[in-house]
Amino acid sequence: MGTEPTATGRTPTDVISTNPASGAEIGRFPAAGAAAVNAAVVRAQEAGRWWAGLGFKDRKHRLLRWRAQVANRMTELAGLLHDETGKPYAEAVVEVAAAISDIDWAARHARRVLGHRRVRRVLAVAEAAAHLEYRPYGVVGVIGPWNYPVLVPISSIAYALAAGNAVVHKPSELAPAVGQWLADTFAEVVPEQPVLQAVHGGGEAGTALCRSGVGKISFTGSTATAKRVMATCAETLTPVVLEGGGKDAMIVDTDADLAAAADACVWGAFTNAGQSCVGIERAYVAAQVYDDFLSRVVARAGRLTVGGGVDADIGPITLPGQLEVIRRHIEDALARGGRAVLGGPEAVRPPYARPTILVDVPPDALAVREETFGPTLVVTPVATMAEALRQANDTPYGLGGAVYGTRRAVAVARRLRAGMVSVNDVLSFAGMASLPWGGLGDSGIGRLRGEDGLREFAQAKSIVVRQGPSPLASRTFDRDEKDVDRIVRAFRLRFR
Ligand code: NAD
Repeated sequence: MGTEPTATGRTPTDVISTNPASGAEIGRFPAAGAAAVNAAVVRAQEAGRWWAGLGFKDRKHRLLRWRAQVANRMTELAGLLHDETGKPYAEAVVEVAAAISDIDWAARHARRVLGHRRVRRVLAVAEAAAHLEYRPYGVVGVIGPWNYPVLVPISSIAYALAAGNAVVHKPSELAPAVGQWLADTFAEVVPEQPVLQAVHGGGEAGTALCRSGVGKISFTGSTATAKRVMATCAETLTPVVLEGGGKDAMIVDTDADLAAAADACVWGAFTNAGQSCVGIERAYVAAQVYDDFLSRVVARAGRLTVGGGVDADIGPITLPGQLEVIRRHIEDALARGGRAVLGGPEAVRPPYARPTILVDVPPDALAVREETFGPTLVVTPVATMAEALRQANDTPYGLGGAVYGTRRAVAVARRLRAGMVSVNDVLSFAGMASLPWGGLGDSGIGRLRGEDGLREFAQAKSIVVRQGPSPLASRTFDRDEKDVDRIVRAFRLRFR
């Protein structure tokens, strides 16, 4: 946030977006106080009524037009994403592509998942037809992080919009320009009402959104902030979906394709400079293939290029304060007897952190227990897959993970304590608009994307329509012993 007076006439509390590699200013956005946030939510309430009234079909057409708009201007958005977060341009393109797929899936499936349907009747109310539909909340508040500021908010925004809600999005204060771009392009295809708005600011604006009377909050960010969001929302019993941090592991079995596993591990650990909630921060490798795997990973990671250019493999660390966390985790691992086979504390050179691979790190080290959120990887040999699972699962987080192997890979994946697992791949679930996204434990509550993600932004409404006389006198005072006897016989006959 800016504090100095500006020549542009903006207030000193503008949110100033800068390029993390060069420090160049990208844009200024007026910071929203509680009054501005509340005003946006009041506008959204009316917009939400209008949007819900359009129905699934009309909303689908408009969402697909927005999808086309984002696709047509994909390189523009990816360029802005590169400038604002520092992530390499190619990675920015991949992120935008996944977001386009989310908009498309949510638009195409909302009616099937949330639309009116008849449900089988049951013996207790055999005379009535059962109807189910999912109604929107009205306004959904979306609070986003800076690391994937297109894909992460879109995985709430697209599904909430498809469900018939208006959305007020508070992007991260480190990525306001991207958040504004999304709202502006949506307004170009839906000019009638402010169905998607962006409000800017840091934690105070986020708190104001939690207190603003929105129907639901979708938060993605650190686990510590998720707890604060939940506490604030508890004041008004505002429901939440929370996507928190992670400490994902890859497990490599004896019969894995080691070349593929090593390549995937390097990408999973170092993509976006390790600033991925589902980044691989730990690898547990069968002892028989450990040396081979480790040498492949070190060789591949050692060739990664680091810099602020569009074609670097690893860009700058977006949040400057994170560099200290990364350095602290590396130093702690070394102090506890670990070794850096690539990088080390000197790999942290602001605004960059080069890849670091640590071995012989004890399980109580920070680099094993806490989210590092930087380009570090701890590789550990294990005697059995049971031991791999025990160590991989020994964390309060439970977001994603990966398993490489042949015979047992799926069985191991099913026992990994995580909301999402890739088998013989890494982070593949991040591109899967049709599957639920979310974690266990400290990684969060609720699911985004897929059918569960659509239902997360709607409330079930049940309607029971009586169609004739009741065969069982269960809901009347005008019943006699014979009626009670008939209920007993009917239930015994059906359920004994
Ligand atoms: P953060 O928790 O610092 O901030 C997230 C958002 O919350 C920002 O918009 C911020 O302004 C806002 N905020 C801060 N304090 C608030 C408060 N008291 N009330 C309401 N809002 C508040 O997280 P970050 O640094 O932006 O993102 C990195 C974290 O996000 C990492 O821990 C990463 O693992 C996690 N993440 C999780 C997922 C997932 O899907 N599980 C995806 C991406 C990132």
